[in-house]
Amino acid sequence: MRQPFLALVLGGLFALSASAQTADERASWNAPVEPFRIFGPLYYVGAKEVSSFAIKTPGGLVVIDGGLPETAARIEASLQKLGWKITDVKILLNSHSHFDHAGGLAELKKKSGARMMADERDAVQLESGGKGDFAWGDDNPFPAVKVDRRLKDGETVTLAGVTLTAHRTAGHTKGCTTWTATFEEKNDKGDTERLRAVFYCSTSVPDPKNYRLAGNPRYPEIAADYERSFKILRDLPCDLYLGAHGSMFGLEEKAARLRAGDRRAFVDPAGFRSFVEKSEKRFHELLAEARAAAKP
Ligand SMILES: [Zn+2]
Repeated sequence: MRQPFLALVLGGLFALSASAQTADERASWNAPVEPFRIFGPLYYVGAKEVSSFAIKTPGGLVVIDGGLPETAARIEASLQKLGWKITDVKILLNSHSHFDHAGGLAELKKKSGARMMADERDAVQLESGGKGDFAWGDDNPFPAVKVDRRLKDGETVTLAGVTLTAHRTAGHTKGCTTWTATFEEKNDKGDTERLRAVFYCSTSVPDPKNYRLAGNPRYPEIAADYERSFKILRDLPCDLYLGAHGSMFGLEEKAARLRAGDRRAFVDPAGFRSFVEKSEKRFHELLAEARAAAKP
């Protein structure tokens, strides 16, 4: 089945329009990645382009994002390689309700029995399996997943002393959630180092034609939501920069540096700022085009 090419930033360049994603592209997004510890209790358990993160707590695991439907098996294998069972997952979170980040959640929830928690706006799409999407209608379905706890903007999720905060950075989806948390580990001198992690949802406009930034009856406040999201992201404290797509934050290159012994490889506040800036600039170009086109 051909799927549209989503929200993609490769090598810092934005894909400007939606196009069909070939089976080869999709397989390359789902290519396996050896799971590894990023910092403190935070682990990478996703595939090459579709991210998934596990956070270890004394009460079990929190997992952020389920990738594509076929990524669920990869995530489970990654957890096993790290010495866990799928039933150790107690809470499932999501960046946003698109098939490449929410696709594997239903299977992960079924196998783990974990509670699914998501922004109340994206919960609608998670429970419909992506159907009735404001931009794509029923064109990009994924296995529907029941949401056990609906979150408002700014709400927190806690498991055994580890807390994550949900920041609604909407536009890409109506409930696109940038998660933040502070993690700690001992540095080489034995001192505790605390780092603030940002799990960037997405602020791309994957498909300007269907996203309709001006005069959109299915999402009238879309442009205002994007603007608000950029403001939130510009002000967000960030040490560890992470995101829904591996290419957003240089997963491969940073993982290689980490393997080579740089334990702060994922510390990249400048990379985060620069990504927000580029994304905002691109959004404003597309908004101007949409407004010009919408003029009578
Ligand atoms: Zn997306």
